[in-house]
Amino acid sequence: MSRAPQWQETPTQVHPARAYIAYVLVCFGPSLLSVGLLAGWSTLTGHRISLLWSFLALMTVRQFTIGVVTLLYHRGICHRTLTLHPMLEYTLRVWGWLAMAIGTRTWSLTHRVHHAHADTERDVHSPVTEGHSLWTIGRQSIQSVIQTREDTTLIARLGTDLPSDRLEHLIEWDCRRNFGMTGVRFPIVITVLTSIWWATGLPLWVAIGAAVASLPGINLSVFASTVFLVNGVAHTWGYRNYEGLDNSTNVVPIDLFGMGEAMHNNHHARPGSANLAHRPGEVDIGFWLAKQLKKVGLVRKLKSSPSGMPGRADST
Ligand SMILES: [Zn+2]
Ligand SMILES: [Zn+2]
Repeated sequence: MSRAPQWQETPTQVHPARAYIAYVLVCFGPSLLSVGLLAGWSTLTGHRISLLWSFLALMTVRQFTIGVVTLLYHRGICHRTLTLHPMLEYTLRVWGWLAMAIGTRTWSLTHRVHHAHADTERDVHSPVTEGHSLWTIGRQSIQSVIQTREDTTLIARLGTDLPSDRLEHLIEWDCRRNFGMTGVRFPIVITVLTSIWWATGLPLWVAIGAAVASLPGINLSVFASTVFLVNGVAHTWGYRNYEGLDNSTNVVPIDLFGMGEAMHNNHHARPGSANLAHRPGEVDIGFWLAKQLKKVGLVRKLKSSPSGMPGRADST
């Protein structure tokens, strides 16, 4: 099915206030949940834990991982709108696996199916077809990953160009073990987090508890910003620069915490462009970062097709 995006001189508004509220909750909620758990653990054990530094550290890790999702998984490997330096790409694939329990191949296949059938009965995740609750969106997204992972014909149809090396096979093997919970990923994550807390001077048993309390800020925060925000809110509330294709929306025009991913309507209209900001006033931090990385040789190719604004061309 081919649907042509039609540029709107005046954007279509779809409950923008709800979009802003959802954006803030999704971006900050999981890190604040971790801080709350750390505060409780600190009180219970009598050992001082700096909540401010914890929050800043968790948000920094979250932001870094969102950068990995948008530049490597999404714009890089899935849509091939940019190419990272091979060493950087390999390192970030390991980071993405530990933080998100999914490899670039499965992620890209699932996302390519979504683009091919967005908001139709054949879409693997869409709040339009099954409902807008967080539970439904989360369940659909997890099921779509499992479905994609097991569908061997999909690789031949949509994924012959995707990574298929030893690392990718290790990640897929591990993710089949309850997303690494009973494999190797979860023990690695807990060991690393415990070591970091232990290095701050906490006794080992307190450090283990602090590591567990940190998990929402590390893992759930990325799940929330990819699944709840992009798969859910960005197909429900916000505004549309383009009509005529699907139910996708831009959640906010200045997307610092989603690094551009919240401008999802722009992306659905032009998936072949690395630049997700199409209207004056829109800010895509991910694209800006890609341009900086290109200057120092860490990004090699950067594709950016003309934006939705007539007569306006993107720079690379
Ligand atoms: Zn979408
Ligand atoms: Zn995409």
